[in-house]
Amino acid sequence: MIEMQDVWKTYKNGTHALRGINIQVDRNEFVYVVGPSGAGKSTFMKLIYREERLSKGHIFVSGFNIEKLKNRKIPYFRRNIGVIFQDYRLLPKLTVYENVAFAMEVIEAPAKHIKKRTMEVLDLVKLKDKASSLPSQLSGGEQQRVAIARAIVNNPSVIVADEPTGNLDPETSWGIMKLLEEINFRGTTIIMATHNKDIVNGMRKRVVAIENGLIVRDQQRGEYGYED
Ligand code: ADP
Repeated sequence: MIEMQDVWKTYKNGTHALRGINIQVDRNEFVYVVGPSGAGKSTFMKLIYREERLSKGHIFVSGFNIEKLKNRKIPYFRRNIGVIFQDYRLLPKLTVYENVAFAMEVIEAPAKHIKKRTMEVLDLVKLKDKASSLPSQLSGGEQQRVAIARAIVNNPSVIVADEPTGNLDPETSWGIMKLLEEINFRGTTIIMATHNKDIVNGMRKRVVAIENGLIVRDQQRGEYGYED
């Protein structure tokens, strides 16, 4: 599903954020990416959804060799990937329904399909009754559930989640994790960067630790392994 071969990322200012990453993630895996601040976790995630370009090496995601992707193919590639952020990144002037439907409109899905599918994912994240609310009228956990609905609405094969529980209290975080686990169970590969020790130790999955731009640990049913 995802393969990186000797992947390097050097930013324009000369910072080597990744220094030779090799990893393979199979279909339907759930992977936590852990490590200290500045280790390269966000860069690793950004390369997967092609927010940043790699400097050296190869990345394959869902069968796409993403450094070779032509600009006109990028929308096809992006619909295969759902992205979730710590700060939700909803469009503030659009309703819950519109925020989710918009992700289907941009890929020019048929109108009647949009309505049905949007309500289906809002039902999955238990927010059907908030469909006409604005993001500012929702709690943080509810906003993150809208972001999850938006991330899955186009049926991506991979979800990339960068600190999805970073702004949430423990109980709400567990609700988000149960939802991600359910989505993974239904067949979506999930890569999640996190500093949440309780979640990593409490919901055991594969753990990949990055330090100084390198993978220093890769364990099935691993532990968080840091004190913070
Ligand atoms: P993490 O997510 O683990 O905190 P990052 O991937 O954000 O790590 O950062 C890895 C390294 O790359 C850090 O030294 C950071 O300062 C640097 N970095 C991140 N983004 C940029 C950028 N756009 N330009 C220059 N350096 C960057």
